[in-house]
Amino acid sequence: MERPELRQALVRLLGAGEPEVGCDECFAELDRYVELELAGADAEAAVPGLRAHLVGCPACREEYESLQALVGGEQAL
Ligand SMILES: [Zn+2]
Repeated sequence: MERPELRQALVRLLGAGEPEVGCDECFAELDRYVELELAGADAEAAVPGLRAHLVGCPACREEYESLQALVGGEQAL
C-alpha cells in the first residue's frame, strides 16, 4: 500500500533538502569517493549525500568498505 503522505512526513523528519543519492549513483561514484577520501580530500563535498547513503544502506556500505580496503591496499604497495 502506497502512502505518499507518510513518505513526505518521513522526508521532512529526516531533513528535507539534504542531498541523498540512490544505490545506482552510489555505486557509480563510490570509486571516486574512496579515492578522494584516501587522498585526504573532502570526499563528502565532492559527492554530496553519499556519506548519508552509506550510513543508511548496508549493501553500499559493504561495497564501500571492500573498495576502501582494495584501494588502500594498492596505495600501500
Ligand atoms: Zn545503497
